[in-house]
Amino acid sequence: MILLAIGDVMGSAGRDALARALPGILRRHQVDFVIANGENVAHGAGITASTAAALFAAGVDVITGGNHTIDRPEGEELLRTDRRVLRPANWAPSTAGRGSGVYRSRAGHKVGILNLQGRVFMPEPEVDDPFREADRSVEELRRETPIIVVDFHAEATSEKTALALHLAGRVSGVFGTHTHVATADERVLAGGTAFIVDLGLTGSYDSVIGVDKTAALRRFLDNVPHRLEPATGDPRLSGVLVDIDPRNGQANWVKRIEVPVPEHGASCRPLKGAPVAARVLERAAARAKALREQGVVPTLALLSVGEDPASRVYLGKKKEAAERAGIQVIERRWNADDDPGTLLKALADLGRDQSVHGVLLQLPLPQGWDTNAMIEALPFEKDVDGFHPVNAGLLAQGQPLFVPCTPLGIREMLHFYEVPLAGRPVTVVGRSGVVGRPLATLLSSKGEDATVTVAHSRTRDLFEATRSAEVLIVAAGQPQMIGPEHVRKGAVVIDVGVHRVEGKLVGDVDAAGVSAVASALSPVPGGVGPLTVAFLLQNTVRAAELVQVPSEAKRR
Ligand code: NDP
Repeated sequence: MILLAIGDVMGSAGRDALARALPGILRRHQVDFVIANGENVAHGAGITASTAAALFAAGVDVITGGNHTIDRPEGEELLRTDRRVLRPANWAPSTAGRGSGVYRSRAGHKVGILNLQGRVFMPEPEVDDPFREADRSVEELRRETPIIVVDFHAEATSEKTALALHLAGRVSGVFGTHTHVATADERVLAGGTAFIVDLGLTGSYDSVIGVDKTAALRRFLDNVPHRLEPATGDPRLSGVLVDIDPRNGQANWVKRIEVPVPEHGASCRPLKGAPVAARVLERAAARAKALREQGVVPTLALLSVGEDPASRVYLGKKKEAAERAGIQVIERRWNADDDPGTLLKALADLGRDQSVHGVLLQLPLPQGWDTNAMIEALPFEKDVDGFHPVNAGLLAQGQPLFVPCTPLGIREMLHFYEVPLAGRPVTVVGRSGVVGRPLATLLSSKGEDATVTVAHSRTRDLFEATRSAEVLIVAAGQPQMIGPEHVRKGAVVIDVGVHRVEGKLVGDVDAAGVSAVASALSPVPGGVGPLTVAFLLQNTVRAAELVQVPSEAKRR
């Protein structure tokens, strides 16, 4: 099960960051349970019924606390009435509320949450020994469930580390809160206990640990206790995702996340495909015209099997664009229950037909039709889709003839928008023969010189692969799977995916979230899409040039 632990939610900026970032995180990572520290959620100090309700409405299951939990009288009332709101268990027993509880996760697992407060450099309020209380509470919780997570609200790194080591092997996670600065030390201790010294701040990052920087600075500069207000700029959610084995409560991994949310006026450049495609189409049309003037009519055969509605739409677009560019189109259709042998024969015939320069077989084929056999039945010199094994081999050898159209389109888009590639870390998510694999080869080839990482469904640490990228290209075929937590600040992101979700077209990237982090993002629709068709036409013209005027074509 995946548990999300969110660091101190501070004031309205924290609530805003949480409300806007949490739904996407829950969906992308199939989060089963969420805890958030809420001792500062009400205007930077304490908690109230309405601020707690805002966190629950956003998807938080349990709110933990700390030394500020009862800064407002409403906090005490809330502790008395809502068992989802905890305060440190090592407070005096006479204090309202509780310090631990067992709850049900979305998937029905029992989850024990324990809240403790440190004593080192934490003068108020005086609390009992957190170590002894931890031993007592953990023993009690373990009678009900092996899944136990501890929020240790403490100042000192040493005290937090000591408690985590003390509990290692007995709890699923020990997560520090209070300092409002996330530490880069998340790890799984021996015995399967995930640990981080501090989860960091969920609130304004244009601040001094969540507080308005002007007032905070005046305190230091003037030595006068100016009133401190929570800041609002650059809101972010900070915390960790932890994967826990529900059978024994042991953590498999823990990952720190910091998720910015878009601010009003934030600038992320949209990498639109239309102007790029227009330039490619214009060039292809000029070359088609030159061929026609030499008496050669560039000709593309479009073959399809079955009545897949999406394929019909794509074929229509290809035909229309080809004819507009001066390319003659021959259409041939088969029914799904026809003999596949007739398609094989047609491909061989078209291969011999001197008047046909490019042949495209619309994929996917219906069940029972062998895609590889069909692709191989075509001469590679007419394979304008670039799927033939010879074309794949030539690309791999650095001597490409026909390269698949979508990768060509993506490379063109990066060139058009002057995104430098040489020497830079580029990650491609997806390794299909249509997009991911040829794209990775193309961008890492001499002349482009990117340092390419390829991620796929078995990649153990997708965060590491995506967050290290200055250019991130996502072709995974999973709706909105990439969120801001996957993206390095300032990265250029190309979204290749196309999906219809609730009647709307979306990509593999959560565009609203990622645009808060990325410096540029290709939209869906209107990004990579138009380029695929444009390069099909360019490849067709090239195929005609190769046959008719080989020496000329070689120079292009
Ligand atoms: P495929 O399904 O053939 O390949 C998807 C790839 O993504 C696989 O390599 C797969 O890994 C990987 N993957 C799947 N899930 C994950 C995950 N959770 N984490 C990491 N990697 C994952 O798709 P295509 O390459 O054909 O297409 C990808 C997307 O691009 C689709 O949405 C498609 O519609 C779109 N597309 C858009 C085009 C356009 O013109 N705009 C053109 C072509 C495609 P594994 O290999 O391990 O299975």
